Amino acid sequence: MNPIFAAAQTSVFETMSRLARETGAINLGQGFPDDPGPLDVRQRAADAVLHGFNQYPPMLGLPELRNAVAAHYKRVQNLDLDPDREVMVTSGATEALAGALLALIEPGDEVVLFQPMYDAYLPLVLRAGGVPRFVTLRPPHWRFNEADLATVFSARTRVVLFNNPLNPTGTMFDGEQLAHLARFCVEHDVVALCDEVWEHVTFDGVVHRPLMAVPGMRERTVKIGSAGKIFSLTGWKVGFVMAQPELLRVLAKAHQFITFTTPPNLQAAVAYGLGKDEASFKAMRAGFQRSRDRLGAGLAARGFTVLPSQATYFLTVDLGEGADDVAFCEALVRGPGVAAIPVSAFYAAGAVRRTVRFCFAKADATLDAALERLTGATLGSRRPFTAS
Ligand code: PMP
Ligand code: GLN
Repeated sequence: MNPIFAAAQTSVFETMSRLARETGAINLGQGFPDDPGPLDVRQRAADAVLHGFNQYPPMLGLPELRNAVAAHYKRVQNLDLDPDREVMVTSGATEALAGALLALIEPGDEVVLFQPMYDAYLPLVLRAGGVPRFVTLRPPHWRFNEADLATVFSARTRVVLFNNPLNPTGTMFDGEQLAHLARFCVEHDVVALCDEVWEHVTFDGVVHRPLMAVPGMRERTVKIGSAGKIFSLTGWKVGFVMAQPELLRVLAKAHQFITFTTPPNLQAAVAYGLGKDEASFKAMRAGFQRSRDRLGAGLAARGFTVLPSQATYFLTVDLGEGADDVAFCEALVRGPGVAAIPVSAFYAAGAVRRTVRFCFAKADATLDAALERLTGATLGSRRPFTAS
């Protein structure tokens, strides 16, 4: 058995969702909306199942979806992508990440990662033979600077894996940080693997800027998106990868031996959805922003220090110096009955243990019920629920 996967713990999302089911807790852990998602997009998928072609689609994805992806990113991010040579459809962003890491890394290559990082990154990098080099981000701003990059980039760096907006913190890196990162990528001839699955779920009018659009990055960026996040349908697992033709050809080789294709009916529905007008994306953002504000205000009223969230389905609270986020989350799920995610689970080493992630992509009644459960636990204390 391979020791990397044998030693890997069950994902913190799976663990907390199971605990929530067992204890009857309200699940604000794993990130998924409780809304069924846009009816017209789901209807398109249903129609495609019943009346469409349900055999293997082309390996790179349905032409109509690749065209829709290119047109969509031209419209929302002013990217010029050739749908035939620079866009590939994958079974979720996860497959895109796995394929890209397998395709781009040779054993011994160094890979720069920013922690907290999405849980799949490190096992995949290690299994591909990569040597991880970590930039550690800390609350409340979760920023990096040039000195942080200078410490981890070397002549052996092959890939930087960059998640923006960042799960679990709900923050976006600004233009200055993108420019720093681009400069290091160019100077060290590094490929940037950009996990931008949260690019559409942004708040307060903040607009996502793809690293691919920063000067010098077009030829060395692999951009990854996910329909699951764009349409609030996380189980759909339809992702897209965008890169210049030479890079995409290599990624396609990995894809053809992992999943080869992605369900054509879902692809057809996503192609339709990407063409919807800006108003529907705006409405999606406004809905999640309202939920963010509802949960954030409720937590603040109960004594929590709520950190800013500019994107994603998540906000984090700062429990303060010396806190133990894992013990806190266990106590929270078993006591008042609310599941959340300890942010330390997103670190490989030197974890920050003072922050906890809550998912606000839920109906008002669910958020209110969770806040109600927290009320008794918070009385008179700034560190509301002391970990045992
Ligand atoms: N990357 C990040 C940062 C994520 O948050 C997620 C899912 N929440 C994924 C990748 C996986 O996306 P998909 O479901 O499309 O595989
Ligand atoms: N991306 C989701 C989250 O961050 C979880 C996905 C999963 O369970 N692997 O909560």
